[in-house]
Amino acid sequence: MQKLKYNRIVLKISGEALAGEKGFGIDQEVVDSIAEEIKEIRKYGISVAVVVGGGNIWRGRNYPQLDRATADYMGMLATVINALALQDALEKRNIETRVQTAIEMRAIAEPYIRRRAIRHLEKGRVVIFAAGTGNPFFSTDTAAALRAAEIEADVILLAKRVDGVYDSDPLKNPNAQKFESLDYIDILNMGLGVMDSTATSLCMDNKIPIIVFGLNQPGNIVKAALGENIGTFVKG
Ligand code: UDP
Repeated sequence: MQKLKYNRIVLKISGEALAGEKGFGIDQEVVDSIAEEIKEIRKYGISVAVVVGGGNIWRGRNYPQLDRATADYMGMLATVINALALQDALEKRNIETRVQTAIEMRAIAEPYIRRRAIRHLEKGRVVIFAAGTGNPFFSTDTAAALRAAEIEADVILLAKRVDGVYDSDPLKNPNAQKFESLDYIDILNMGLGVMDSTATSLCMDNKIPIIVFGLNQPGNIVKAALGENIGTFVKG
């Protein structure tokens, strides 16, 4: 077997990615293709944890008429819906999967227990972390950074709709330049919208590298997991 660059990864799938072209809700084709790629990655023996976003269903900050904490709890529930969709797609492909939620809801998933999550990964199960950090005012990017630090992941794969980090929004500016690699401090200094500043600082402090890449091309998750040069590499 080839020497692996990463043995344990955290894959962050944003809600936006799950919505695909529809822009809202869950596009089953996208979920299926992500599940296929995770299956492929597992064949290499790489242990896979997934953090799912919820922005395709609910984003707390978009509802200023609600109390912010309440709106954020609703967002965390949205991530659980996405997690169950991904679990279903993985189990249909005979990949053993556990969903762990940061807010207890034992009838549908395990509560997040770090040691148990690590044990699942060691047994070859894919662990999907849902409900973010369990706290309002945070994001699922921060949850990805936190879980990656806790389970000692080698890298975070940040699957986005855009294929890397640019100096300006490539959807608005045709001359936007893509970065091959970056340091965390550049992201903070330049105010680049890769992750929010809480998630960025957490990765920086814990020296966790991230690969930011697009889900637009099939096979990209596998390539990123194998350490191939795609998207933008943010050095840990
Ligand atoms: N959220 C939260 N705490 C967390 C993670 C998420 O309150 O630790 C809420 C927040 O309202 C957020 C929503 O859940 O807007 C969905 O998560 P996020 O926006 O990070 O999803 P993504 O942008 O990745 O789809």
